[in-house]
Amino acid sequence: MSLTKKILIGMGLGILVGLILNGMPIYEPISAYILNPLGTIFINFIKMLVVPIVVISLILGTAGISDPKKLGRLTGKTIGYFLVTTSVALIIAISLATVFKPGIGDYSLEGAEFEGESAPPVVDTLLNIIPTNPLNAMVEGNMLQVIFFSILVGYALARLGDKTEGIKKLVEQANDVLMFLVGLAMKLAPYGAFGLIAVAIGGQGYDAILAMGKYFLLVLLALGIHLFVTYGTAVATLGKMNPITFIKKFSPAMVVAFSTSSSSATLPVSMDKAQKELNVPKSVSGFVQPLGATINMDGTAIMQGVATVFIAQLVGANLGVSEILIVVLTATLASIGTAGVPGVGIIMLSMVLTSVNLPVEAIALVLGVDRLLDMTRTAVNITGDAACAVVVSKSEEKHVTTHHDDTVSV
Ligand code: ASP
Repeated sequence: MSLTKKILIGMGLGILVGLILNGMPIYEPISAYILNPLGTIFINFIKMLVVPIVVISLILGTAGISDPKKLGRLTGKTIGYFLVTTSVALIIAISLATVFKPGIGDYSLEGAEFEGESAPPVVDTLLNIIPTNPLNAMVEGNMLQVIFFSILVGYALARLGDKTEGIKKLVEQANDVLMFLVGLAMKLAPYGAFGLIAVAIGGQGYDAILAMGKYFLLVLLALGIHLFVTYGTAVATLGKMNPITFIKKFSPAMVVAFSTSSSSATLPVSMDKAQKELNVPKSVSGFVQPLGATINMDGTAIMQGVATVFIAQLVGANLGVSEILIVVLTATLASIGTAGVPGVGIIMLSMVLTSVNLPVEAIALVLGVDRLLDMTRTAVNITGDAACAVVVSKSEEKHVTTHHDDTVSV
């Protein structure tokens, strides 16, 4: 049986067991002794690989681009694509929430309290991008800093050429070792997905979902539209790939994102699928995907867009055109600043709400259903990065004429 099938079965069984155990007293011991450990073993195994994979793949990806012009072009295209798709995601989210008005109902802010850590200012995140100590950045898992350092090292290797052939070879071999370990981690995926999904569904009160039904469904609808229409169109027109094939081949990574709720933890798998199944060259995948898993979060932006309009409707505030533009801008920045780990998107929502003077306590209302939405939006987040990798690699094809600089590692 193929691994994808096994993962899907694990996921299906997880949903079933979660639904059965939901609200039952036996849920606690079963989740503590069986389901949680299954999920944690898998997540830890895969998290163990994240920092080394980001470092090695970015060094290798950038080192494969010997022409500095190409590096500039790739960076421009990637960042441009990220910004455009995140804005489209927000427009979809805000339009749907404005039309379907999820916040008009019997909601009250009375007793609502939200005490999250406050969102770090995005300017600080951007200014901090240069690590004063790269090893420290790796130890702390500060991804933007790790990315910055790795791209520089890769660039140096590319410029120094034959002189650093030995290090390049070493990095290539390290990459093989890591990919082998990803393969091992994936053997655990069906069991991990089962445990993680059963816990997420079993621990979620049905009441919370019913109370927030309209908001919940709207976020799902916006995510679905963005996934199938925006990415589908981008992949078909710019990437010249059948969108159904794209989603089918990339689906194992989506399942891992869905069960882990973490773009970072999914990165090893999503890169593996993009390179082996979607035929994205390593130099493109190794550059676009680690960057995307850290700064490109369309699914998160969608949740923030719907939540902001929902909360505005609930308190009777009117969002005019200028407020909507502010929401698009701050939610785009928030999605750049959101770390690819579970539950950060909802903390960053406070930044968006504050920018248009909406009450941050209202987050307490949407928090109840956030676990399930986090799973779904993370799957969209990483699919957006893979779609970008497909589009960028297609657009780079016409530049590959006499150079075979990036085909070494394909
Ligand atoms: N869990 C999301 C991710 O890792 C981030 C978030 O929206 O909380 O992509």
